[in-house]
Amino acid sequence: MKNKSVKFIFITGGVVSSLGKGLASASLGALLQARGYSVKLRKLDPYLNVDPGTMSPYQHGECYVTDDGAETDLDLGHYERFTGVPAKKSDNITTGKIYSNVISKERRGDYLGATIQVIPHVTDAIKNYILSDIDNQDFVLCEIGGTVGDIESLPFIEAIRQLGNQLGLSQACFLHVTLLPYIKVAGELKTKPTQHSVKELQGMGIQPDILLCRTECIIPDEQKSKIALFCNLKSETVIEALDSSSIYEVPIAYHKQGLDYQVCKHFDLDLTIKPNLKRWYKINKIQKSSEGIVNVGVVGKYTSMIDAYKSLIEAINHGGLANNVKVTIKWIDSETLENEESDLVSVFKDINGIIVPGGFGERGVEGKINAIHFARVNKLPFFGICFGMQMAVIEFARNVLNIKDASSSEFGKTKFPLVGLLTEWQTQKGYEKRNIESNLGGTMRLGSYDCRLTENSLVKSIYNKVIISERHRHRYEVNNKYISDFKKNGLNFSGMSCDNTLPEILEVPLHPWFIGVQFHPELKSKPFDPHPLFSSFINASLKQSRLL
Ligand code: GLN
Repeated sequence: MKNKSVKFIFITGGVVSSLGKGLASASLGALLQARGYSVKLRKLDPYLNVDPGTMSPYQHGECYVTDDGAETDLDLGHYERFTGVPAKKSDNITTGKIYSNVISKERRGDYLGATIQVIPHVTDAIKNYILSDIDNQDFVLCEIGGTVGDIESLPFIEAIRQLGNQLGLSQACFLHVTLLPYIKVAGELKTKPTQHSVKELQGMGIQPDILLCRTECIIPDEQKSKIALFCNLKSETVIEALDSSSIYEVPIAYHKQGLDYQVCKHFDLDLTIKPNLKRWYKINKIQKSSEGIVNVGVVGKYTSMIDAYKSLIEAINHGGLANNVKVTIKWIDSETLENEESDLVSVFKDINGIIVPGGFGERGVEGKINAIHFARVNKLPFFGICFGMQMAVIEFARNVLNIKDASSSEFGKTKFPLVGLLTEWQTQKGYEKRNIESNLGGTMRLGSYDCRLTENSLVKSIYNKVIISERHRHRYEVNNKYISDFKKNGLNFSGMSCDNTLPEILEVPLHPWFIGVQFHPELKSKPFDPHPLFSSFINASLKQSRLL
């Protein structure tokens, strides 16, 4: 920790899960930035997985990948989108990671014969993580996953209690996010669950400094005073967090309720500073004034769990902001497009562009390939991301190169592995090696890699530069043996890894917009800085909608 006066804000949640703590943390980060402070946001996850990389998207939603190659919680995506600060491996800490470090230290004998206990060894390890890898930021916001009272989160709560005590009020602030349920028959907002959750926190030695109360209706002043009285707070630190129709309205709404003001007051900072919220007002204005609608069809297999596509949804919306249109997403379960009778014409009747996003495993693959075929021959804008790009290669190989058995070795042994397991590749640090038996956790090509774009290609004109850097998360790669066959038949690989071995981008020049990328561009898109591929794809889809 280089900056000795860095201020920590610990964000906990009470009453129920899914209160939007991640968004609340991201919004507070953005508000502090708007006051001219630098911020870092961290997530402490109480589960036993070392990282969410091996978890099913149905369990955990999207796995957000950082530049430095960590597979992290999707809240880090919110943090990055709202603050523009790139998240790092050290910004997501899990119980699994802590325990595995403590246990390997114990095996090495580093504890010199001590009995290893939750307090102090595990709590010390948590505190060290919280305090490590901080540069000169003014604020570090640490969100604790889960809900206060969960058995799993106890060591984290204890660790932040100790830290709060060590650092003192001038360097630590506790923000508790709770729910005020509205009981229709009584016509009232209820404060009791919040009182209980604060009591629970107090029982663990933490007095929250600020309460952020999620609610579907305005909190009357008397209710605020009541909460303040029972929770040992001043009523101005009981902040209303009303449901809003767009996540981009949240920072302004919280500012209006005084959230950033109360945080600055807690730390005795200059209260005369007026936060510069221009960019947030601008986004909201664009959103409200957007003209026209573009319908994007997303063909995937996790369509019943759209948190699995969190960054994708946001990047699509950013593409809408860039074109001043509203984008509606139609979720299409790829398994429904598998059989011969699937009537693709009617499924895609009102669709102006198709996205086949990232994915794993064979289920639903034929439906994705059918959708890609439909987009290619009907000249509907198509955007294939990672798995979607790999399936576009297979579709083209089967239907244009006439390699009927073209497949990916992800689905088992095949004579024509157009997409194959990558066993060796170059990183900034040297060569990475894998084999078929390698662990599943953390062993993909992960994080940012450079890619060189071909002159006169569509992607070059979209990015307007030659070398780009994008984030990866995959185990398989397009087989470069077939590159010239594809080119002869009208599909170009217009982006290659800088050592020219790995195909990174494909495009079909005789199609209005047919692009596949091996990386995940959605991870880098921001509302203030929409990703160029998404802006361009939505623009092509908008043009397509005008043809109808
Ligand atoms: N399953 C594919 C692979 O591992 C694609 C992964 C993805 O879409 N992120 O290569």
